[in-house]
Amino acid sequence: MPELPEVETIVRSLRPRILGRKVSEIKVLLPKIIHAEGLGSSEDLIGQTITNIFRWGKNIVLEFSPNWYVRIHLKMTGQLLVSLPEEPIPKHTHVIFSLDGGKIEVRYRDIRQFGYIHIMTAGEWEKWRDGNFVGPDPLEISLPSFLARLAGKRGKIKSVLLNQAFLRGLGNIYVDEILHQAKIHPESSADHLSTEEATGLYQKMQQVLQAAIWHQGSSVSDYVDSSGKQGEYQYYHQVYGRANLPCRQCGTRIERIRVSGRSTCFCPKCQRRR
Ligand SMILES: [Zn+2]
Repeated sequence: MPELPEVETIVRSLRPRILGRKVSEIKVLLPKIIHAEGLGSSEDLIGQTITNIFRWGKNIVLEFSPNWYVRIHLKMTGQLLVSLPEEPIPKHTHVIFSLDGGKIEVRYRDIRQFGYIHIMTAGEWEKWRDGNFVGPDPLEISLPSFLARLAGKRGKIKSVLLNQAFLRGLGNIYVDEILHQAKIHPESSADHLSTEEATGLYQKMQQVLQAAIWHQGSSVSDYVDSSGKQGEYQYYHQVYGRANLPCRQCGTRIERIRVSGRSTCFCPKCQRRR
């Protein structure tokens, strides 16, 4: 599933290509992808100009002038591809936004069809954004706020970090990578971490996410940016996807366990349980 660095990369690749363009037509080939349970429908976007594109956790948000928001969650295998209309439409393309009189298209493609496009009014967006579904952004939260949020959190540190209400945007890949860098066992109890360990965790979280954005995300399954380009951070993974391979720090065999139902890779020597 695309996580914070992948979604950030997609957003950055979308901006120069579609910002300021106007929607001329929307073809919905698979209606269930469009979530318009509120006030809006895909028809409302026709004639609207894209005025802002940003990331909110793992969501891609397109803002339209003056009133509409489109929140796109790619889930497992979603892709948002900017294409010329003459380019062949790939299989599993479910929604096509035609922009600027058909000069350019944004195609939503999704093999497993878990992703969705949520059309919202400004009011609906603000209500969703300010609801309790998602916590602060890991790249925006300050160290004191992070320490305060972590203090007294019960449960395994991996589960805490995966919880989108705690921080928005982290998933299985980056939590495993961050915990390895911070030398924290994924099953360590969150409230057993010392201030020093929690501070290290915060710093490694920043470093890993920034490095992953620099390398344009990790292409471990279907992830590509909006031009169809793969990321390269998978080549820098220390533990994720490396079960039974030697740890790049110490040579110990990387182990795979399940933590709260999620496959988890870690180094038993570098990451001692607290
Ligand atoms: Zn190790």
